[in-house]
Amino acid sequence: MNNYIVSARKYRPSTFHSVVGQKSLTTTLKNAIINNKLAHAYLFCGPRGVGKTTCARIFAKTINCFHPTPDGEACNECESCRSFNENRSLNIHELDAASNNSVDDIRALTEQVRIMPQLGRYKVYIIDEVHMLTQSAFNAFLKTLEEPPHHAVFILATTEKHKILPTILSRCQIYDFNRIGINDIVEYLEYVAKQENISCELEALNIIAQKADGGMRDALSIFDQVVSFSQGNVTYKTVIENLNVLDYDYYFRITDAVLQNDVPKCLLLLNEILSKGFDGQHIISGLALFFRDLLVCKDPQTIVLFEVGDTVKEKYLESARRCETAFLYKAMELTNETDLNYRYSKNKKFSIELLLIRLCQLKASPEEGDKKKIVIEAIENKKADNEDIKIVKDSNAPKASADPGKSITRIRLNDDPEQAGKPETVSSQTENPIQNQPFSQEDLIRSWKNYANQSEDVYLKNTMSYINPQLKDDYKIEAEVLNPDQADHFRENSPAIREYLASTLRNNCIELDIKIKIEDHTQTLFTDKEKYLYMVDKNPSLKNLVQEFNLRLD
Ligand SMILES: [Zn+2]
Repeated sequence: MNNYIVSARKYRPSTFHSVVGQKSLTTTLKNAIINNKLAHAYLFCGPRGVGKTTCARIFAKTINCFHPTPDGEACNECESCRSFNENRSLNIHELDAASNNSVDDIRALTEQVRIMPQLGRYKVYIIDEVHMLTQSAFNAFLKTLEEPPHHAVFILATTEKHKILPTILSRCQIYDFNRIGINDIVEYLEYVAKQENISCELEALNIIAQKADGGMRDALSIFDQVVSFSQGNVTYKTVIENLNVLDYDYYFRITDAVLQNDVPKCLLLLNEILSKGFDGQHIISGLALFFRDLLVCKDPQTIVLFEVGDTVKEKYLESARRCETAFLYKAMELTNETDLNYRYSKNKKFSIELLLIRLCQLKASPEEGDKKKIVIEAIENKKADNEDIKIVKDSNAPKASADPGKSITRIRLNDDPEQAGKPETVSSQTENPIQNQPFSQEDLIRSWKNYANQSEDVYLKNTMSYINPQLKDDYKIEAEVLNPDQADHFRENSPAIREYLASTLRNNCIELDIKIKIEDHTQTLFTDKEKYLYMVDKNPSLKNLVQEFNLRLD
């Protein structure tokens, strides 16, 4: 550990064989060397850190080697190879066009081109980030490229192929480098760790590989960073802490909670993640990607798009099996929508909470569909025996604990099923095991206040704090609000509130009725928004004024 050398430098590949993740490309280069079919100019394209410059250097060394191996690798022992490995070869010239992009820089380089090599056969000129050359530098370079001396080989490297002039492109052999696969990176990091006697958890290397986004150089430098942070014991936990990566376990847990339609659990998980300091946008986009990964690993055709390492693959597959494809489509859509709108959201935490609730409702909706079916059946029965059916037994109630008295869902026959919840009734969900604990008005108030206190939505908190919820017969809870605006806001939150009450009071039969208090104009106005709405009500032209001057309430 003490003499730990930065691995990005120490483990730079010295043969084509040791270049990770570019097998077909290195094989082609080796074949060209074996068959002595060298071009004068090559263009290496691809993302940063995937081995373009490394391959260029290996190529330069190999074509100058005195005793190349039969499969086209450098011997690494001859005088030429040693001069390359010790960075003292005169046959390789590197120019970083990002910082040396003038005509003079190119002239300085092309003037050397005429000089013959003293040792070995070829002089190799590597121009990195070649798309950064100025127009006149490009033109100056083109002349040399048109009539290169026999001993000169140019290797141009770029991350932005589309910026290279067609006249240059047409004179080069083009090699496209790929992003390096997660498993290739993990395998290589494992090798480096073993060489350095560093103990590593595979899941930790997986996170590093993902963070490096297909670049080996980045992967190695992140690895170095983590090694020094964790003092030689690289665990999943130290890696996610050090790299500020959200533990994917949270996504699995959120998905589980969503599948069980467990809104309180989702909200608590979110709270836990936020309390660790993760950014909301990061959580949402991570969740979107997670659903995407579940989707692609569901189908054998798309599993190639699944870029998560083998170690956690099984976990994903298991989770994917439990998600229907239609659910994943919809979940991705909702998550993406929230992701796009997040920036403009005034109450950011609330928008993620709403997302989670909507995701939970996706899982609840097949049940809704069943209810519709039941309604239709009921209507047909009604036609048959001409009887007014008011109560339909819920077919989704778990059989084991099924007590007919407790597994009843009310459905209004004369309403459209879509509107069945109205007016202001959130009907009980029966997906959770049936619980029917009696509770008192005091219990209700306590639960109610707890929910209000933990809410970060100030408006909701205010609204809830002066509502005096009343427990009526049959676990119906009546909540009276002051105006339609409050009712709307409260209604948006009522599924979550109902879920919370149901779980803390252990009673799934709870119904939440929202009523608007009859205006008596002696009411107290609490928030600025309420005051504003009251004033608009008195004098509607106020609204125009506010819009005209683009005013807003703080
Ligand atoms: Zn050699």
